Amino acid sequence: MYLTQGLHRAARQTPDLPATIHGDRTWTWAESRDRVARFASALRELGLEAGGRVAMLALNSDRYHEYLLAVPWAGGIVVPVNVRWSAAEVAFALEDSGATILLIDDTMLPLLPQVRTAAPVLRHVVHVGDGPTPEGTLPYEALVETHAPVVDAMRGGDDPYGIYYTGGTTGTPKGVVLSHANLLVSALGMLATGDLMRPGGRLLHAAPMFHIADGAAWVACTVLGGTHVIVPSFTPTGVAEAIEHHRITDALLVPTMIQLLVDDPATRDADLSSLRTLIYGASPISAAVLDRASARLPGVGFTQAYGMTELAPVATLLLPADHATEHLRRSAGRAAPHAEVRIVDEDDHEVERGTIGEIVVRGGHVMQGYWNRPEATAEALRGGWMHTGDAGRMDDDGYVYVVDRIKDMIVTGAENVYSVEVENALSSHAAVASCAVIGLPDEQWGERVHAVVVLRDGCTPPVEELREHVAARIARFKAPRSVEFVAALPISGAGKVLKRELRAPYWEAQSRQVS
Ligand code: ATP
Ligand code: MG
Repeated sequence: MYLTQGLHRAARQTPDLPATIHGDRTWTWAESRDRVARFASALRELGLEAGGRVAMLALNSDRYHEYLLAVPWAGGIVVPVNVRWSAAEVAFALEDSGATILLIDDTMLPLLPQVRTAAPVLRHVVHVGDGPTPEGTLPYEALVETHAPVVDAMRGGDDPYGIYYTGGTTGTPKGVVLSHANLLVSALGMLATGDLMRPGGRLLHAAPMFHIADGAAWVACTVLGGTHVIVPSFTPTGVAEAIEHHRITDALLVPTMIQLLVDDPATRDADLSSLRTLIYGASPISAAVLDRASARLPGVGFTQAYGMTELAPVATLLLPADHATEHLRRSAGRAAPHAEVRIVDEDDHEVERGTIGEIVVRGGHVMQGYWNRPEATAEALRGGWMHTGDAGRMDDDGYVYVVDRIKDMIVTGAENVYSVEVENALSSHAAVASCAVIGLPDEQWGERVHAVVVLRDGCTPPVEELREHVAARIARFKAPRSVEFVAALPISGAGKVLKRELRAPYWEAQSRQVS
């Protein structure tokens, strides 16, 4: 099992079919294989050895696809880097992974001087943008043109394919080592449902390609020899135009992107009828958005994926047919064909159905481990199961409901309060634009429920009204005991709310008092 397999096969079976379409540039599968083999040759000349790491810091492009194949072809390991990270975070990823070569595009160039200083490990920088090649970097196209193709290094199976960094929502991002087999198992499992990509399909890349979610869709499309249609980054009109113009069949978007796409008046007249499947994940979709999306996109099969970087990344799938059942829409679906899922208590014993515990997962897609972190690896993989750190429950039919991250759960009195549940109740108040619910230290109750709220423009509801709104929908003890209004919530590079930052000042103050 090796990731370049799809490339070899497609180049042989459908050499003239487009592999990538990016702007007005199209490369067929035969051309794609040729370019990959040439760039792999250049990477070797730059000193890349078996198992060496090559990072990429760039928006989506056809070169991202070539990078994802050329690095293993040359025998190396990919390190896709988050484009929303600061220079310091990028340098951390390079130093941590030991990447000696970095590919960078025009949009990310401003970070380069600082990254170079903070990451002395870096030896070569390849410029993959279309603008002029800056001094001290190597032009990608010239490297491809001037190198003769080399033979595929044929890495595969349990060999590391890539180091993917986690979102950094609960702490410093960790490098997750995913093997060729991990990614292929996850992709083949998704395809085995029969609801996702079909041969000859066209996949839209609008979600960031550095992220493992898009990465898994990329693997599935590559395995099938489909066509990757790539837009640099998400915009509602860009996506609508790409779907209409290129007759896209499959797309992966996060719920906020779906909301923006279906609610944007500028996309109202676009013909989106070619779309068959829309995969969404990273968070559940609100019922209202799903209704609007289903109305705008009749005939589209919605599929929710729950997972994490450590699971390459899919654990459960809520399939199109499941979406027809009202109560299942709140679930994250059932174990995907390649995965086994259980809910366990603190002693790792399986709990009864319906009881909340930690979601743990087993299967051929579970990571090899965290890069250079044997202790964190042993802890996460204890007993042969990946401990997700997510709290959830499973119903009698095996449907999994994700309730909260364990680190975000609030224990007040002896009661557990799931921050997500309170956030959902609070968000349904018309004055609330967004919110985050956290536990604060409380002498009497251990922790108390606290809400941090961003109000909609011009709204100034009394705190009591917000509390009552929550108390009327869920239990009174779950209603926030205090509310704080802010202009914006702290967001991670992956777009998730950083609750640890919201909690920090309160808990630090407390530990100072204790010491
Ligand atoms: P870190 O591990 O560094 O704190 P992170 O967990 O945010 O960051 P990712 O691996 O990108 O990094 O995210 C995985 C997490 O995203 C899951 O553990 C889960 O909490 C959340 N998640 C993913 N899919 C879903 C979903 N469908 N529904 C609810 N939550 C989801
Ligand atoms: Mg995580």
